[in-house]
Amino acid sequence: MGYALAEACINAGAKTTLISGPVNCEPPSGVTVINVETTQDMFDASMAAAATADIFIGAAAVVDFKPATVSDRKLKRIGVESMDLSLIANPDIIASVAGSETRPHLVVGFAAETHDVQAYARKKLTDKSLDFIFANDVSDESIGFDSEMNAGVLIGKERDVQLQMSSKRVLAEAIVGELSQSLD
Ligand code: C5P
Repeated sequence: MGYALAEACINAGAKTTLISGPVNCEPPSGVTVINVETTQDMFDASMAAAATADIFIGAAAVVDFKPATVSDRKLKRIGVESMDLSLIANPDIIASVAGSETRPHLVVGFAAETHDVQAYARKKLTDKSLDFIFANDVSDESIGFDSEMNAGVLIGKERDVQLQMSSKRVLAEAIVGELSQSLD
């Protein structure tokens, strides 16, 4: 979805930076690509790029927790029957962008939910101080993760726009169209 959005932004004439984790997608021509591996790297790149951006769209499914310690050696299992893994919270990238002093004019998130989709999405819109959030129901296997298709509701502070099932490319054009209108 992030790659489709980057392409729609380029098509709309926007100078576009795509900050991407390791995925098997070809970036659209014309975008500046920053490849990252960890959430911390994505956080650093996002804060730097967002400082001079008009719109920030956070479409990545960011992992919320990371191991508290990382071993530089292989962990041996001889004599070990169980192991507790201690996790600590990763930074919330989009909430940090939305709360920054150099906040972009529009900060747009995604909410992939399996139930009470709109209620949870609205809560994230408020909790993370977003301007829009795209809510989609990932319990429906025909849309969302690992699918070329998507559908959902673009929830704004003032109005919602229902977007029917279509290719991620068509949907991205519709989302970017709505965002451009809000910037005018
Ligand atoms: O994973 P979740 O549904 O909470 O994600 C909602 C929004 O928050 C998405 O736009 C996602 O990219 C963003 N997010 C983030 N940093 C995190 C977790 C989520 O920017 N650590």
